[in-house]
Amino acid sequence: MWSGVVPTAVTRAVADGIYLLEVGWPEPIGANAYLIDDGEVTLVDAGLPVGRRSLAAELSAVGHGVGDLDRVLVTHYDLDHVGGLRGLDADVPVHVGAADARLADGTWAPPPAHPKGAFHRLLRRLFPLSENVQPVTDGDRVGGFRAVHAPGHNPGHTVFLHDDLGAALLGDLVRERDGRFRPPPWIDSYDLGRLAESVDRVASESFEHACVGHGRPVSPDGGDRLRRLAAEL
Ligand SMILES: [Zn+2]
Repeated sequence: MWSGVVPTAVTRAVADGIYLLEVGWPEPIGANAYLIDDGEVTLVDAGLPVGRRSLAAELSAVGHGVGDLDRVLVTHYDLDHVGGLRGLDADVPVHVGAADARLADGTWAPPPAHPKGAFHRLLRRLFPLSENVQPVTDGDRVGGFRAVHAPGHNPGHTVFLHDDLGAALLGDLVRERDGRFRPPPWIDSYDLGRLAESVDRVASESFEHACVGHGRPVSPDGGDRLRRLAAEL
């Protein structure tokens, strides 16, 4: 729970250059965002539209202003990951998996019979992405990151790997609880079969710092922890 202690860059550091932004809400309501500083400044995901602390305040807690941002990476188009972009007022490219860019702009119609499809049909009316959207596909390089298309939770869900920092920005590929990873629930995912394939694929990558959207980041040994889940699925 919120302790009233003002967080600082030190308390938010997952590892060198990797900072956790809790975007104002504790679990299970909120989703994590991250700031990566590798000489360029990248925001990964943006949390809910309304937090107890603003995204700008979270950025300043790790020593940056909105004007420092070079880009935003979005792991997937869900309200708890893109809502905070509204009002951020950062004129920077927003990189998002190509299928989720189509989901957001309406050129792909999600199945209305799936609970998540119905939700997305509403979400894209209320929270369209900015005009600065840059769709990414598997293997694309964006700054120090490499995009790995990891569908299942969403069709365009993308994991961003930073090989130099040993970091994997996992979004909602998995959730962390009590130090273990689990897949997100079926009601919140389009295709759990594809999601298991995505877990397998990302688990074959090499990284230490597993930065999840929900739960605590696992660092070090994040890659080993994901391989353990892949073996169970
Ligand atoms: Zn989420």
